[in-house]
This record gives sequence, structure tokens and C-alpha cells, in this order.
Amino acid sequence: MDNIKDKLIQGNKIFIEAHKKEHYDSLINKQVPYALIISCSDSRVIPEKIFTVDAGELFVIRSAGNVVNDGELATIEYALEHLHIHYVLVLAHTSCGAVKASLEEEKGHYLNKIIDRITLNIKGIKDYDEAIKENAVKTKEYILDKFKDYSFEIETAFYDLKSRKVTFF
Ligand SMILES: [Zn+2]
Repeated sequence: MDNIKDKLIQGNKIFIEAHKKEHYDSLINKQVPYALIISCSDSRVIPEKIFTVDAGELFVIRSAGNVVNDGELATIEYALEHLHIHYVLVLAHTSCGAVKASLEEEKGHYLNKIIDRITLNIKGIKDYDEAIKENAVKTKEYILDKFKDYSFEIETAFYDLKSRKVTFF
């Protein structure tokens, strides 16, 4: 474990040296992100890298299968109410392990919170890519239903691990 910690500490040193101090200093007392991204926790799906943006630009929720449960709803409320974000993107991706777990009816203790939600979202769809997209669409509809009183645009997109292209659908 120590070598993992060392790797993280070393990485942080490189990060501090590699990025402009002024930009990060300007963000110490405020943030004005222009978009909320609801992405998967998957280590291969990194919104800031995929969209080539810097600190302060995106407010990001990452949860397995881009699932929105109570904790995520609270974060969305914060983004809409306090950060005044008007653009939300639900970002799905190919080879999503959470959707696969749901298709294969895997079980877990806390994991069921995610799997059950995805199962509800994809309702009988068997095709992997189709299920991934439907899960994102249902997440979008769920957010719209929960935040009826807010004015914001919400879209769904699909990140392809192979081409690294994001397709809006
Ligand atoms: Zn995923």
C-alpha cells in the first residue's frame, strides 16, 4: 500500500509544478462551473480529460453506472440551487461494468442500490450498448422529474472507450 501512497504523493508534486498557479489561486474563494456532468466512476472515464477542461469548469458527480440515488440528488440540488448551473450532461460509456452487472443480475449488499436502479432503468433490454444508453436516458428523466421547478437543459451522451469520441444522443 505504501507504494500506492508514494505514487499519489509524487503525482501531486508533479501536478503542483505543472499547472499555472494564477489559475488555481483565482479559484480559492469561488467556483463558477458552467456544467454539471454525471459520469461513471469508471477509471477510464475522466470528464475533465475527455473534454479538455481545467479546474473550475465542470461540477462532476461520478457514480457507478452514472446512477442517481439520494446522495447524488443532493449534489444535483446543490449544483442547480447554489452554483446556478443550467446545463447538465449524463455521460454514459461503452463497457460499463455497472450496467453489465445489472444485465447479469449480480448481487451485492450496498451494490444492490445501484444494480436495482439500473435494472429498473433498462427494463428488460438485453443488448449491452442499448442498455447503457437507456440507463442514461432514464437517469435524465429521473432528474427532470425530481427538479421540475428548476430551469436547466439536460442531455445524454455516450463515450466510446475505443474511439474516445463523445456522441450526444
Ligand atoms: Zn461505467
